[in-house]
Amino acid sequence: MKRKKLVVGNWKLHGSLLENQRLLNRLKQELPALSGVDTAVCLPFVYLHQAQTVLQDSGIGWGAQNVSQFTEGAFTSCISAKMVAEFGCTYTIIGHSERRALKLESNQVATKRLLNALHAGLTPIFCVGETLDERDGHMAELIVRNQMLNVVYGLDDEAFALAKKFNMVIAYEPVWAIGTGEHATPEQAQRMHAFIRMMVAERDREFAEHIRIVYGGSMAPHNAHSLLSMPDIDGGLIGRAALVAEDFIAICQTANQCLAQKTAALEPSPPAFSQ
Ligand code: PEP
Repeated sequence: MKRKKLVVGNWKLHGSLLENQRLLNRLKQELPALSGVDTAVCLPFVYLHQAQTVLQDSGIGWGAQNVSQFTEGAFTSCISAKMVAEFGCTYTIIGHSERRALKLESNQVATKRLLNALHAGLTPIFCVGETLDERDGHMAELIVRNQMLNVVYGLDDEAFALAKKFNMVIAYEPVWAIGTGEHATPEQAQRMHAFIRMMVAERDREFAEHIRIVYGGSMAPHNAHSLLSMPDIDGGLIGRAALVAEDFIAICQTANQCLAQKTAALEPSPPAFSQ
């Protein structure tokens, strides 16, 4: 199955109006030419309007890093999916491990956020991944399975149809690889991505073929090719390297080339010339 790669920058708690302007302008110069990859940046809420102004009509998407589990009401400081959608966002990250680690987000809360995102017409990038202790304890698949259960079986038919309609994305982000400079090996990541795809297939085989499962955890220009060449790795969620224009552009270029290579490999070879 040929799935177009997706590379998303997660800017976390970084940026200023001036720095953003420079970075976004640089991305705008280079990324629209890459037709084989979808690209986007997820910025702090307060910069969504800036992203909308700069990236409008560029082909580069933008999104939020979270949305509230509430839709409206007396919830000081919360920002709803509907509000975010008003700023032209395509994406929102949900359940990032930095949110889960702060104990702010259980699987249940993450699922509520996911539902709100879908009802607002956003494409959720739903993050799953194990800690180092869990991996060392041979529990990685169990943990990821638990995090995925709400997505696979917890959504009713209407919500699952929305997940398909808005192309929900799963991000496999081993916690030990985030921001550490240590990435999962391509084989480790591929194994988990195939496992996640298999879980989605338990609910819907066709969607499992289409859903994009992206990898996050210290992806950088030097390791992007080996990771993105894996059959079930459909892109990247990029933290640190997304803040350096040349690094982010290089990863997007690599993803673009990977699709071209895959397409060539899938094309039937011409018949042998016979005399
Ligand atoms: C992330 O925060 O989602 C992430 C993958 O960060 P980094 O690329 O810095 O590991």
